[in-house]
Amino acid sequence: MAVNVNEYYENIQNNYLFVEIARRVDKYQEENPDADLIKMGIGDVTKPLVKSVIKAFHNAVDEMADADKFRGYGPEQGYDFLIEDVIENDFKPLGVELKNSEVFISDGAKCDTGNFQELFSQDNIIAVTDPVYPVYVDSNVMAGRSGKPTDDGFYENIVYLPCTAENDFVPELPKEDVDIIYLCYPNNPTGTTLTKDQLKVWVDYAHEKNALILFDAAYEAFISTDNVPHSIYEIEGAKEVAVEFRSYSKTAGFTGTRCGYCVVPEEIFIKNSKGEDVQLNPLWNRRQSTKFNGASYPVQRAAQAIYTDEGKKEIRENLDYYLENAKVIRDNLEKIGLKVYGGVDSPYIWFKTPDDIDSWTFFDILLDQANVVSTPGAGFGPSGEGYIRLTAFNTYEKTVEAMERIKELKF
Ligand code: PLP
Repeated sequence: MAVNVNEYYENIQNNYLFVEIARRVDKYQEENPDADLIKMGIGDVTKPLVKSVIKAFHNAVDEMADADKFRGYGPEQGYDFLIEDVIENDFKPLGVELKNSEVFISDGAKCDTGNFQELFSQDNIIAVTDPVYPVYVDSNVMAGRSGKPTDDGFYENIVYLPCTAENDFVPELPKEDVDIIYLCYPNNPTGTTLTKDQLKVWVDYAHEKNALILFDAAYEAFISTDNVPHSIYEIEGAKEVAVEFRSYSKTAGFTGTRCGYCVVPEEIFIKNSKGEDVQLNPLWNRRQSTKFNGASYPVQRAAQAIYTDEGKKEIRENLDYYLENAKVIRDNLEKIGLKVYGGVDSPYIWFKTPDDIDSWTFFDILLDQANVVSTPGAGFGPSGEGYIRLTAFNTYEKTVEAMERIKELKF
């Protein structure tokens, strides 16, 4: 008898980005105990849950202590009270009609974007933008959908779509045939967006090639520019070819509370090995019913409070606060002559290092000389080399202070 490992796990590159950042930061702090570090690296929020969310959360916890109101297992797909508010508030105003059965409440977009690939054959070819949120790639590597890692930081059998200043961060259509395309807009890590026309190119491509788009809209709430779609379903024909993921993490400070959802329209059909059509929505329903027992009742009530008038106002204030930080970062970096991207419809600012300094070297310069923790772009994929990501999630005061320090740097 022997327990054998899933060897696909051995393909995973030892690219523990945030572990390596933490290691460097800890070392620096140990050697410089008085250094006042400003953390603008990891994408976690700093503002607490808003009042109306906390009130709904408390009320729901109290219900759980009352024999008449107590709730046990809930629907794996989420409670209708939240699903209905999602449809009414997140999609109806965009002119998008959805059925309750097309919305699946979850404990966040990381799980959903990581798990969704289970529904597809191992032979399917996936395409990702580069740089990229690592979950899309790693979950497919674990499932055996990639080959081995290559020396230059890619994986065999995965198609990479470079997004750099050279193409204005708009990915080109793949030259080879691909089956599943991960798109994330507003983008993590680059903070850039696609216009409706630019996204339509992908929807049309998916129709033409019978491909499927997995669209991650975790940062949708940060969009203020007119022509930038909040949902892929604003694009004609998207319901037949796209799944959309949403998260309350950055929208409403749920990073530690955990709630999100995904939309799987009933119009999507994929193929079985006999070439017959198989509807995707029941497959995801089956997957969730088997492996997930629903987000907790108090968490779903807390999420529902975001859709009240008070809740909307409160989360808007927080989003605007982060967007103001983003503007401070953008403006200051531009003032010192850096090429800056993102940060308009996104809490992420992506900038080109001066003099083509590599990402990790510039990360160390920011850490040593400005005591600012950033994220090296190379950690998100080979096309991120030569870039740095800063987040707008710190306090306004610390953001301003960080910019003062960076402006003093000599490079
Ligand atoms: N998708 C993207 C692009 C993200 O950047 C993140 C978090 O950083 C997530 C999904 C995960 O969101 P959640 O907290 O809902 O799991």
